[in-house]
Amino acid sequence: MKFAVSKPGTTVAVKTGEWRSQKPVVDLSKCIKCATCQNYCPEGCMGTPGQAPDIDYDYCKGCGLCSQECPVKCIRMEQEIKQVGKPKV
Ligand code: SF4
Ligand code: SF4
Repeated sequence: MKFAVSKPGTTVAVKTGEWRSQKPVVDLSKCIKCATCQNYCPEGCMGTPGQAPDIDYDYCKGCGLCSQECPVKCIRMEQEIKQVGKPKV
């Protein structure tokens, strides 16, 4: 039997941002720095609890948990736009 993921790896080794089809965007003007999103984020990629969220998109997999759990609903999920192929110059 074959598995899609053949080698175990931490999220530091695997840039889970490549999985994303939607990305979270935080409205910092409404953020109350409650740390809920940072505590729920399974990738631990939202910065330091107690400070405004600072998302590392290399590791955000777009699961939307942060958006679901934010008590003031200031994280919206946007469609990810991925560039395919080489950029045109
Ligand atoms: S979408 Fe998921 S992985 Fe990305 S920052 Fe929010 S909780 Fe973390
Ligand atoms: S859950 Fe919402 S209000 Fe709380 S720190 Fe995150 S973005 Fe800010």
